[in-house]
Amino acid sequence: MEHLKISSAQRIIFEAISTLDTEQVALEQSLWRVLAEDIYANRDLPPYDVSAMDGFAVHSRDLATLPVTLQIIEDIKAGDMPTLPLKTGQCSRIMTGAPMPQGADAVIRVEDTLELSADTVQMIVSVKSGHDVRPKGEQMHNGDVVLKAGAEITPGVIGILATVKAAKMQVYRRPSVAILSTGNELEAINAPPNPDKIPDSNTYALMAQVQALGIEPVLLGIARDDPAELEAFLKTGLEYDVLLVSGGTSVGVHDYVRPTIEKLGVSMKFWRVAMKPGHPLAFGVRHAASDALVFGLPGNPVSSMVCFEEFVAPALRCMMGHQRLFRRTVTARLAHAVKMRPGRTEFIRVQLTQDETGFIASSTGTQSSGVLLSMARADGLMVMPADCTGLAAGSQVTVQLLDGTAFQNDINFRE
Ligand code: AMP
Ligand code: MG
Repeated sequence: MEHLKISSAQRIIFEAISTLDTEQVALEQSLWRVLAEDIYANRDLPPYDVSAMDGFAVHSRDLATLPVTLQIIEDIKAGDMPTLPLKTGQCSRIMTGAPMPQGADAVIRVEDTLELSADTVQMIVSVKSGHDVRPKGEQMHNGDVVLKAGAEITPGVIGILATVKAAKMQVYRRPSVAILSTGNELEAINAPPNPDKIPDSNTYALMAQVQALGIEPVLLGIARDDPAELEAFLKTGLEYDVLLVSGGTSVGVHDYVRPTIEKLGVSMKFWRVAMKPGHPLAFGVRHAASDALVFGLPGNPVSSMVCFEEFVAPALRCMMGHQRLFRRTVTARLAHAVKMRPGRTEFIRVQLTQDETGFIASSTGTQSSGVLLSMARADGLMVMPADCTGLAAGSQVTVQLLDGTAFQNDINFRE
C-alpha cells in the first residue's frame, strides 16, 4: 500500500465509522456530552415584560418635563403580580425581575430618583419607552428550538437545559475503548525496575488522551511479541468499540500486530501515512453486530501520541456525535529557523508564548520521535507541510493547540 496523505487517511476513517447510538442521561451527568435531540422552550421567558433594574415603573410620557413628582401606588417584588394599573402621575416601586404593571412602559433606576416620602418620588431623568424593561420572550419563546441536536453540552448549555426543565436528555453514547501495548522490551508500571527494559509509557499517555475526551478506557496491559499471546490480547481488545494497539505495526520481523488482527477478521484499510512522526499507522475495521475499530499506533511514544491527535481523537469525537472534530489551530510566528527534509508532513512540538502581535512558537527541543519530553513540554503541534524545505525565523506557521492551551498565566486584556 502507498503512503497516504493525512487527509486521505482521515477520510477513510470517517467513511468507516458512524455516530454511536443514543442514551438518556440526567442533567447532572451531561456535561461535555453531545445532544441527540432538539430541545424546545416550554414557555416564554421572561413570561411577561419585567423590570431589568430596582427602581420605579413609570410611563415615559410622564417624564417629559423634569423634575416631576410621581405618586407611588404599589410595591412590586420579584414573584409578585402587580394589582394596580398606573394612571397619569403615578408609578410603582419595582424590583429586578418583577412584572411591569399595566400602564407602565419604562423603569427609572432608583439611583436616578429622589424619594420625597413613603409614597412620593421625584424623577430627575427622562427615558424612552422600553427603557430597562426586559420584554416578554426576550430570551425564548414557547416552542422555539433553543438547542439543536449535535450541540455540545457546555456549562452554558446546562443552564439552558435547566431553564427548560430538561432533567434528562438523549445524548450520544461514548465508545468503549481498550488500550494494548506490545513489545518484549516493555516493563509494566508495577514491575520491579530492570535497567535493560523500556518502561511502558504509551498505555498511560494514550489513557490520558482518551480520558481528556471524556472516555474512561480499559487498559489491557502488555502483550509480548509472540503471535499466540498477541492473538489472545487482540481478541479481547476487539470486544470494545475501539482498540488502540501501540507498537509492532511496522515492518520488523517481530511486528505481528497487522497479520494477527487480519487473522481475527479485521479488514485493514491502510497502514502507512506520509507524516512524521507517526509513519507506520494502521487502521482496520472488524464488521460484526457492532463494529470494532482498530488503530495500530506506532510504538515510538511521540508518534503514538501524535497519531492519536490526528486520527483517533477526531474518530472518537465523531462517534460521540461531535460536529467539531479537530483541534483548534492558531497562526503563530516562528521564534527560530527550522530545517526540514521534504516528503512527509511534519508535526514539530512547540511551546507558545504571546506578545502584542500574536502567538510565537518555539521548538520544545529534540524532535526525535522517541523523546517524549518534546511532547510533555508542548502547547501545540506546529504543522510543516510535506513540500516545505525549511522556515526562517519570523515565518508564519500553523499550530494545532493541545490540551490546556485554553488557559494562560494572566488576564492579558485592557480593562
Ligand atoms: P515498535 O513500533 O514496536 O517497533 O516500537 C518502536 C519503539 O517504540 C521501540 O523503541 C519501542 O521500545 C518503543 N515503544 C513501543 N511500545 C512502547 C510503549 N508502550 N511505551 C514506551 N515505548 C514503547
Ligand atoms: Mg515493538
